[in-house]
Amino acid sequence: MIKRSLKQISEMASAINDITTFADIMIEGVTIDTRKIQAGNLFVPFKGEHADGHQYVEEAIKKGAAASLWQKDVPNPPQGLPILIVEDCLVALQEMARKYRKELSVKVVGITGSNGKTTTKDMTTSLLSTQYKVQKTEGNYNNHLGLPLTVLGLREDTEIAVLEMGMSGRGEIAFLTKLACPDAVVITNIGESHLLDLGSREGIAEAKLEILQGLREGGLAVLHGDEPLLMERIFKYKGNINIQTFGRNVTNDLYPMDITQIEQGNSFKINASETVFELPVLGTHNILNALAAMLIAHYFSIPYEKMNAGLANIKLTNMRMELVEGKQGEKIINDAYNASPTSMMAAIELVSNLQGYKRKILVLGDMLELGPKEEQYHLQIGTGLNREKIDYLFTYGELGGHIAKGASQVLGTDRVFSFKDKTELIEQLKRYVDETTLILVKASRGMRLEEIVQTLQKK
Ligand code: ATP
Ligand code: MG
Repeated sequence: MIKRSLKQISEMASAINDITTFADIMIEGVTIDTRKIQAGNLFVPFKGEHADGHQYVEEAIKKGAAASLWQKDVPNPPQGLPILIVEDCLVALQEMARKYRKELSVKVVGITGSNGKTTTKDMTTSLLSTQYKVQKTEGNYNNHLGLPLTVLGLREDTEIAVLEMGMSGRGEIAFLTKLACPDAVVITNIGESHLLDLGSREGIAEAKLEILQGLREGGLAVLHGDEPLLMERIFKYKGNINIQTFGRNVTNDLYPMDITQIEQGNSFKINASETVFELPVLGTHNILNALAAMLIAHYFSIPYEKMNAGLANIKLTNMRMELVEGKQGEKIINDAYNASPTSMMAAIELVSNLQGYKRKILVLGDMLELGPKEEQYHLQIGTGLNREKIDYLFTYGELGGHIAKGASQVLGTDRVFSFKDKTELIEQLKRYVDETTLILVKASRGMRLEEIVQTLQKK
């Protein structure tokens, strides 16, 4: 993490007050949370909706923070303490990160896309860690606040940083990529999340491609080549950057072959090597995430033949296609972390094709933020089910009801149940569950469907 004198920090943050008396204090690391303060940290207070972090500045210093920022428009900064007064705390934090990144010799990988960012980040990190000192975005710290904090947390000896870049509107990825100045970037895919803010899938593609604005001259762009919206637009950038594509189509630079289901995942080959790879993560869409990660690792000179070790060590962030066991011996795929039509279809396809279960049940909830066509998207998930492969559908929530409506046409009403109450859903669901059952649990984050998984697991 950043280690600088307060004088240096003051310059990086463009502080406007005189801190001569405290100039030599050493700062190590930045935090915005008083509960996580470590000795030597710089505390950055924010004015939130409910509380104002400035109230906690003195407490932060008592707890070991070496200094604090203070936003100019907040009255009465404490006297006699190492306080840097800045125009705006968020801007100061971002500027510090921007300058710190420039001072580091670290190589940066930036990852964006509608689905699979965190997964691809975890996979890329796992592959690169077999040969380099790597740091990655923790959890989902991928926005205008999380990304600068991640950058300021980089150690000086880290060789490669793998950074997730998320967005909810135009211009956000451009901002993040210009701050992080990546050497290589990935666009995992274009889905439907944020359709509400961006209007169309074309708009989403444009927003994701903003990541190229910060890519260094001659850097690598790894793109999902099966997505026409990306391929139609990428030619503008040809010449200045190196472009590599991955996907299912054989026209891609990297594509998978001989996909075979193994315990907890898939094995596959690629067009660029004789090696058989084992990926211990469920879902064929995760092979695509792995291909993107492999192109990045290859760019950093890791031979394909040596990548199995990295793939074997993949640790995914929680609630993404986690396979757990319920108390009646049933297997549950906990994918309650999030959902969009693309990821919902990918997860249903996975369940449809998994072998070795007598009964397959989907427990699906609302996919949020889809805009005016939300009902249609839900209906289509329902009508798209295969009656031979899925036995029962349980839905939760208002929009979930539209999945049920669509599914009734395919599965028949006796195999489809719709609920507005989780407890009732669980009571009904339990009657259909035994040790031969596979259950998929998936919805948008806001629906908190992990509560269903937890209840099914409780002894
Ligand atoms: P967020 O925008 O919330 O940060 P993310 O892009 O980081 O999401 P992940 O957390 O990696 O995405 O995965 C979220 C869900 O998306 C997974 O649980 C999985 O169901 C689905 N998913 C992951 N990769 C893909 C993919 N390549 N194609 C379709 N769906 C995917
Ligand atoms: Mg994420």
